[in-house]
Amino acid sequence: MNITIVGTGYVGLVTGTTLAELGNDVFCVDIDEKKVEGMRNGIVPIYEPNLEEMFLRNIQAQRLFFTTDLKEALDKSEVIYLALPTPPGEDGSADLSYVLKVASDIGEMMTEYKVVVNKSTVPVGTADKVRETISAKTQIPFDVVSNPEFLREGFAVEDSMNPARVVVGCSSEKARDIMSKIYQPFTNTGVPIIFMDEKSSELTKYAANSFLAVKITFMNEIANYCEKVGADVDKVRLGMGSDDRIGHRFLFPGIGYGGSCFPKDVKALIKSGKQEGFDFQILEATENVNQNQKVILVSEIEKYFGGNLNGKKIAIWGLAFKANTDDIREASSLDNIKILLEKGAEITAYDSIAEENVRRVLGDKISFAKDMYSALEGADALFIATEWSEFKNPNFELMAKKMSNKAIFDGRNMFSMEQVEGTGFYYKSIGRKTVL
Ligand code: NAD
Repeated sequence: MNITIVGTGYVGLVTGTTLAELGNDVFCVDIDEKKVEGMRNGIVPIYEPNLEEMFLRNIQAQRLFFTTDLKEALDKSEVIYLALPTPPGEDGSADLSYVLKVASDIGEMMTEYKVVVNKSTVPVGTADKVRETISAKTQIPFDVVSNPEFLREGFAVEDSMNPARVVVGCSSEKARDIMSKIYQPFTNTGVPIIFMDEKSSELTKYAANSFLAVKITFMNEIANYCEKVGADVDKVRLGMGSDDRIGHRFLFPGIGYGGSCFPKDVKALIKSGKQEGFDFQILEATENVNQNQKVILVSEIEKYFGGNLNGKKIAIWGLAFKANTDDIREASSLDNIKILLEKGAEITAYDSIAEENVRRVLGDKISFAKDMYSALEGADALFIATEWSEFKNPNFELMAKKMSNKAIFDGRNMFSMEQVEGTGFYYKSIGRKTVL
């Protein structure tokens, strides 16, 4: 099948590459000319494990193409996926301007039947809005389908090639048949395709992300309470997670969730609720708790240094919002850096994958180290903000030699107590006793 993908970010590029891998001819459209030019020359514009190999293979096989010309791609494809940004507007609601602009362009440009598949995360009712926008421009028949994306950054290729389920919101038989055909390689191996109406499909995505945000946040509150009463969140987590109604995943406490999805999707669902006179009380609490959780260690660092961070040298390990991605959108590291700088601390950070993106935002406000140990040179404390694997089993002796003071504030609970005890480090993590 010939398929167009509009928007080649984390979702669009991975979806496009996956659909090409499944044997389709895929035309990826983006307005960013530099990005398109790079991709034509075999440059993957994002960091995503295992993407490059599949990307290059499909370019080579002439199944994956890149263009800035929507009309050119549209003319070649019956199915058009929208993988466009839906960032939070000023009031927290999802900004639909990118989606509706492209819908309007499609309406103007199409010359025969198309299925417009929305992969962006959008509020309930957006399929209707896309339909109205296209209808305002054309008499030619078309269908609009909601097909939310559940991939995780850092595992995007794996998730896209092996989805747990495919959700399709669709009210036309013709579009349903086309979607079934596209996803046949998945359903053939037992992956369920769950058809529903467009509104339920749109809400499924927000409900799933919000639930995960609540689960993380719930555990963070349990962790904070553990510290008050002398319980160990690692034990509580294992005890709870063994119940298969709960499960072990998303129970790891830390300095809050960030990224391009959870914060914006929780906000957008709260806002959508409000528009209907409905209060998502649990999500409002989640948002507040998470905002505090992101910077919960700053007061600990301040307390440790007697209330004065002026001139203190803080090393930061990890800048990405989570491991295995270069994405720094709403990363906890940035919230912490901002406050630490305001309090007069000097920061040297290490994150080989996300460094470039942070440089773009912070310029020379902080220094960057070429490896995790160099970041520690003369540091008064180490702050761990991202759970990159390379931090899991460090050489504590070497760390002690590099640092001028032995203190670790671990926002991702990277080490077991046994690892740290006896090293002479002061070690403050989340929901566990402090090693002195
Ligand atoms: P992104 O910001 O990484 O990429 C968006 C791309 O769209 C950019 O390359 C941009 O240049 C391009 N674009 C903007 N306007 C355009 C236009 N008019 N024509 C063509 N291209 C245009 O975004 P993303 O992270 O891939 O997210 C896309 C959507 O998918 C969002 O709604 C997001 O909530 C949702 N989503 C994201 C993830 C994730 O993990 N990133 C997961 C599931 C769902």
